Amino acid sequence: MSSTKSRPRSQAAFLNAQQVIPGGVNSPARAFGGVGGQPLFIARGEGPHLVDLDGNSYLDYIGSWGPLILGHAHPVVVKAAIEAVQAGSSYGAPCERETELAELIREAMPSVEMVRMVSSGTEASMSAIRLARGFTGRDKIIKFAGCYHGHVDSLLVSAGSSALTLGVPSSPGVPAGCTADTIVLRYNDVEALRAAFQAQGDKIAGVMLEPIVGNMGLVVPSREFLGELRSLTQQHGALLIYDEVMTGFRLAFGGAQELLKQKPDVSVLGKIVGGGYPVGAYGGRADIMKKIMPAGPVFQAGTLSGNPVAMAAGIATLQVLKETNPYEALDRMTRRLCDGLSKAATDAKVPHQINRVGSMWTFFFTGTPVVDLDTAKKSDTARFAKFFWAMMDRGVYLPCSQFEAAFVSTAHTEAHIDETISAAREAMIGL
Ligand SMILES: *Cc1c(COP(=O)(O)O)cnc(C)c1O
Repeated sequence: MSSTKSRPRSQAAFLNAQQVIPGGVNSPARAFGGVGGQPLFIARGEGPHLVDLDGNSYLDYIGSWGPLILGHAHPVVVKAAIEAVQAGSSYGAPCERETELAELIREAMPSVEMVRMVSSGTEASMSAIRLARGFTGRDKIIKFAGCYHGHVDSLLVSAGSSALTLGVPSSPGVPAGCTADTIVLRYNDVEALRAAFQAQGDKIAGVMLEPIVGNMGLVVPSREFLGELRSLTQQHGALLIYDEVMTGFRLAFGGAQELLKQKPDVSVLGKIVGGGYPVGAYGGRADIMKKIMPAGPVFQAGTLSGNPVAMAAGIATLQVLKETNPYEALDRMTRRLCDGLSKAATDAKVPHQINRVGSMWTFFFTGTPVVDLDTAKKSDTARFAKFFWAMMDRGVYLPCSQFEAAFVSTAHTEAHIDETISAAREAMIGL
C-alpha cells in the first residue's frame, strides 16, 4: 500500500535520514509504519497547511500531533518566540515568564494550584508518577490499556489476557522490575477497577488515565467510570492523575476536566501548553506539589525546564485561546467535518464509527462502537491505510495510524472542511 504520486525529494531525504537516524525519524509515529510507504519530509507549515520538500501542499489534520491548535506559524506565537529568543535562549535561572505561564494554567484548570514546568509530555508524566509515589509512600500505579503517557519505563506496559494481570513490558529495554508495580486495566471497565482497589487499595499510589483518550484513537469514558475513578481513589488515599497532554487547552480552555466537570489531584500537560515548542508541565493540589524539590523531598530537575522561548510561545498560545475562546467554533467546524465524512462513508457503504469530542476525532473502519482498546482493534487497518493514501494523494494529511486522534485547528475554515469531505467522497469509492 502506498501513494500513487512520486515525491522524489522526500524519498531522497528519507534515505539520507535513515543513514544517521534510526528508522530515519526521531519519533516512531512519523515513520508511516501503520500505512506503509514513506513519510513526507516537511519544508514548512503555514496555517492549516503543511508543504513538503517536493512543493506539495496538504491540509494538515495532525497539527504536530496536537500542539498546533492555532495552526502553523500563528503570527502572535511567532512574534512572541522571536522577541524571546532575541533576549537570550536560556538562562539557567528563573524568569517571570515561568510564573506567567503557571498562572495561566492555574486560571484554566482550578484543580491545578501549583505547577512545575518540564520539557515534554513524557517527562511530565514520569515526574507525576514519581510525585504520586513520593506523596503517598506507595508503589503501585494503575493505568489503562490503550492510554499513552509517553515513553516512561513503568508505563510501557501491555495488559495480560485477563483484565487484572500485572503489566508485562511492551518494549525491550524495560526491565520487568520497572513494570512490576504497574497494574493495567481495560478502559471503561468499572468492575476491574473496583476489583483492583479491593485487592490492593492500600498499595496504590495513583491511577493515571487520559480522561478522554486520543492514543487508541478517540475514546470517551463513561460517566460511571469517571465517577468510580474519583470515589475509589479518594476512598483509598490514591491520587487521581489526569494525563491532559493532548486534551489540555484542546477540548476546552480548562481541558477535559472542564468539559467533564471532574477534579483530578494531579494533571499532566504538554503539547498546546508549549505552543509548538518543547514544554510539558504537571500540576495539582498545592499540598501534593509542595513535595517536589526544593519545596519538598521528591527530586525532579531540568536544564531547559521553563525555557524562556518555549514559555513565551506557550503564553502567547494560551492568551490567544483565552481571548478568542474558539472552542464552540472548533466544535461546530469539526462536527461539520465528521458529519460529512460519515455521510460519504455511508454512501460508499463503508462500515465506520466516528468518535469525536470538540476538535479531536477518529474515523474508525469498524461497524461496532469503539469504547476501549479491544473494540478499537476491530478496525480494518488495511482499509484505513488505503484511505490514508487516497487522502494524501488528494492533499489531505491525516494521522498515519488508525489508532490516533486527528485535530482541527482554528486555521481551518469551512471551505477547507468541505474540500476535505469532497476528497473523502472520492477516496471512499473503491476502498
Ligand atoms: C503526546 C502524549 C504524551 C507524551 O508527550 P511527549 O511530549 O511526546 O513526550 C503523553 N501523554 C499523552 C496523552 C500524549 O498524547
